[in-house]
Amino acid sequence: MPLIAELERELGARAAAGLVRRRRTIASPQGARVVVDGRELVAFASNDYLGLAGDPDLADAACAAVRRWGVGAGASHLLGGHFAAHAALEEGVAMNLGGGTHHAFADSGRGFCVFNDVVTAYRALRTAGRLRRAVVVDLDVHQGDGTHALLAADADAFTLSINGFRNYPFKRVAGDLELDLPDGTGDEAYLDGLARVLPEALRRSRPQLAFVLAGADPYEGDRLGRLALSKQGLLARDAYVRDQLRSAGIPVCVTLAGGYAEDIRDTVEINLGTVQTFSA
Ligand SMILES: [Zn+2]
Repeated sequence: MPLIAELERELGARAAAGLVRRRRTIASPQGARVVVDGRELVAFASNDYLGLAGDPDLADAACAAVRRWGVGAGASHLLGGHFAAHAALEEGVAMNLGGGTHHAFADSGRGFCVFNDVVTAYRALRTAGRLRRAVVVDLDVHQGDGTHALLAADADAFTLSINGFRNYPFKRVAGDLELDLPDGTGDEAYLDGLARVLPEALRRSRPQLAFVLAGADPYEGDRLGRLALSKQGLLARDAYVRDQLRSAGIPVCVTLAGGYAEDIRDTVEINLGTVQTFSA
């Protein structure tokens, strides 16, 4: 039997046994549901975890990026190099939409915090030889006692913490520079204080990287905060910190830390303001 006929017979036998794989065709854009071979199915294999694949803003940003940088990968990190746009993004601003677990100690977790993410990240960067000096700018209304304890003996790490004086934790651990504010402190007094202590912290620490714990809990509508900043005041706080770091050429890693507004939508709005401010 000629070879071609032999192969056709073999393939026919496999097809009859249902062993030939047929490629399916998706006829719809990315999304939570897709149309596959004419049937609508739940797309559990999609990587559109955030449901943003069809977001108009993302589409516009992608179009702008394609016009500027072209289509396709275009660069090999090891051989040809790394696009300047990627490098700027990686080295300028990083943000964790969570984190800021500053009450975690080496041997115990407290106050909603199990592991101290900022100290862990700092130690990992140091071990990898990426940097030596860093500053932690902790603007969550509660004192970062765990961070202070973990970094107390480290001369290369500097901690700045702005706290509600009468708030948790009730047994304090001293940081390098702290500003304690009375209950009910509003925008003006807060921003005045920040403008005093942040430049001092940067001057004393000369950091290669700043970790910022933004904290939505100094907000006047917060159930645990005890301070009285408005949403505008919090935006001004974030913009001031961003501008100080940017003008000093210090890259920043932001974590959101605490936020417990009566209405959770207020906390989300404040968190969103932080993200937009630091990415602007
Ligand atoms: Zn807090």
